[in-house]
Amino acid sequence: MISLRFSAIEKILNRPNISVKTPSTKISDYFNSNVFNDFAMKNFLDKEAYEAVVSAIKHGENIDREMANQVASGMKNWAISHGVTHFTHWFQPLTGTTAEKHDAFFDPVEDGRAIEKFAGNALVQQEPDASSFPNGGLRNTFEARGYTAWDPSSPAFIIEIENAKTLCIPTIFVSYTGEALDYKAPLLKALNAVETAAVDVCSSYFDKNVNKATVSLGIEQEYFIVDQAFFHARPDLMLTGRTLLGRAPEKGQQLEDHYFGTVPPRVLNFMLEFETECYKLGIPLKTRHNEVAPGQFECAPNFEEANLAIDHNQLLMDVMERVAKRHGLEVLLHEKPFAGVNGSGKHNNWSIISNGNVNLFAPGKTPHNNLQFLTFFICAIKAVHTHADLLRASIATASNDHRLGANEAPPAIMSVFIGTQLTSVLNDFVSENKKESKTASKTSINIKKIPEILLDNTDRNRTSPFAFTGNKFEFRAVGSSANCANAMIILNTIMAEQLKLFKQEVDELIKHGTKKDDAILKTLKEYYLSSKNVLFEGNGYGEEWAIEAKKRGLSNIKTTPEALNAYISEKSKKVLLNNKIFDERELEARYEIMQEMYIKKIEIEAKVIGQLAASHVLPAAIEFQSRIAKSVANMKAAGLAKSNYQTQIELIQMIAKHIATIDEGLKSLAIEAKNANSLKNTQKRAMAYCNKVKPIFDTIRKASDSLEFFIDDELWKLPKYREMLFLK
Ligand code: ADP
Ligand code: MG
Repeated sequence: MISLRFSAIEKILNRPNISVKTPSTKISDYFNSNVFNDFAMKNFLDKEAYEAVVSAIKHGENIDREMANQVASGMKNWAISHGVTHFTHWFQPLTGTTAEKHDAFFDPVEDGRAIEKFAGNALVQQEPDASSFPNGGLRNTFEARGYTAWDPSSPAFIIEIENAKTLCIPTIFVSYTGEALDYKAPLLKALNAVETAAVDVCSSYFDKNVNKATVSLGIEQEYFIVDQAFFHARPDLMLTGRTLLGRAPEKGQQLEDHYFGTVPPRVLNFMLEFETECYKLGIPLKTRHNEVAPGQFECAPNFEEANLAIDHNQLLMDVMERVAKRHGLEVLLHEKPFAGVNGSGKHNNWSIISNGNVNLFAPGKTPHNNLQFLTFFICAIKAVHTHADLLRASIATASNDHRLGANEAPPAIMSVFIGTQLTSVLNDFVSENKKESKTASKTSINIKKIPEILLDNTDRNRTSPFAFTGNKFEFRAVGSSANCANAMIILNTIMAEQLKLFKQEVDELIKHGTKKDDAILKTLKEYYLSSKNVLFEGNGYGEEWAIEAKKRGLSNIKTTPEALNAYISEKSKKVLLNNKIFDERELEARYEIMQEMYIKKIEIEAKVIGQLAASHVLPAAIEFQSRIAKSVANMKAAGLAKSNYQTQIELIQMIAKHIATIDEGLKSLAIEAKNANSLKNTQKRAMAYCNKVKPIFDTIRKASDSLEFFIDDELWKLPKYREMLFLK
């Protein structure tokens, strides 16, 4: 029987290109057409209902039941005009994916007919039986109720899959007793915290007209694509999202000929179709290109308000995976689907914008604006320095562990890159302080001394996990498969905390007679001096950096079970509880869930690698070995001298050695997994999976990859790297 590998190759060579037709040649003709946006609301809601939604979005005001009924009715009419039959609350449970449960609009009435119905309470709140979502002990199965509640700040949208059209209403997801069971609820709290703190700082010191601040986020998404036929012939890709075995191809990314190269036509057609779907959903995709590794690509939308940007990124991942299948392709969102070539990340471009148009991270041209810029800029640096471990924890997952610190991925050390120009601005800024303290204490620092800052946008450092790029910070260590909310909850909370502390300290100085600008400058200088250890301009990939970082006292936490501990340290608890992002129970539940998630991921990988080794690798090795043994026996029978088949004997021995290694590996996998499972404490269990179980994968892999090199190509049933990585 022909193996899946060869039938896959056959199939791929004969795949036709699937051409794609867009609804119009002008994207603006269909952009947002499946979104209940401002335009649709104006058409389908009466004035009162429209204004209620707008003020809920703008000022977080509650919508009463009567108004909710009106909004629901308008939303239903709009949806029905688009051929929609069902609606769902769309939420983001801690599984990392999105969840939906569809209900039909249709409702039977007394005379045996039916009407289309969608009442306000169905819009505002639903009660999915949610007992199977991760809850970290917050709900036992007896109290399985969980509530989803409408988030009016993210507009409802229609998902079209084949002939099914569903109205999706973005919601938060909380337990019966009110604890968050999702990403969105704490995210909204963190955004609110930082926005309030930013308004307070701006309006008190820089511009009293500031009454609104918005976090903006632009998420670059990296991903791999493989042909679906290969995907189905690789149980590891199917079940774990990454290849657990596989020898690196002779040609990988050394020639750097993939990066920014011509997109293969099959992939381009896929891109065209998924972009079209995204545009209908209002996802403002702007860029697409090949990434560094063969088979790797990237897309990025225009930045949006952070909550919306995250909803859109979650949707984008769904749309990509779904559309790819129609093209006979599979999108791999895993951080490290292939060993030995680059992994995938999700750069989070982050800034805060006041009153809708002033980017607080944009250095202005006037000293006045510069002081505001320096405040936000230095507070961000200080926040990262103070809470580096918590920030590290926010990106910790089993899959991102493979990427951080590996091939061309940011290290696990949290440092900040600001570029040469800003480095010298900050250095001048503090040396000024020294000069001044030497001369006369009465001279106050003249605000005009703050230099004009004109940024050179080309100052780039690809190796930093957290880099300033012109008018925004780019958090690059976030993993490609992550829900960015996790990272954004933490980043915005620590920024909120820092801005609040800043405000308190400056106010205190002012209260004791220091002039406002002097108080600000003094505080910022202290911040800079106490946090400049976190600044690093060099090569983040180099080993020297790890040594240097250690000297500076920066942590370098390489594994998830260890990194997650930062969530429950006293320091982190304080900042998360103070800002009311989580309460103690929620935080502990979340910690538990994340450790559990880690354990489950590694446990599945252990089972899959065991399965692959036992049912793919060993049979191929033994078959090849016995073929050689037969040839040796034949030669011996023909009376040939041993020197004629010495090489074959050595080959048999070498294969035997690798078989033995794999066999031992399988045995220790079983023992170590059993030991790990016997540990009651979740963190200890996670540590055991990390330090005892996972290292065995490498042993098995090494032996298997050597066998792959020697064994007759025809006997090897798993698609090889060279086949999967170079798409036709
Ligand atoms: P690069 O690969 O050079 O970083 P991209 O164009 O791929 O550039 O991505 C940059 C991302 O940063 C885009 O999503 C862009 O919209 C976003 N961005 C630009 N300015 C801001 C800002 N002020 N706040 C947040 N994101 C921003
Ligand atoms: Mg970038």
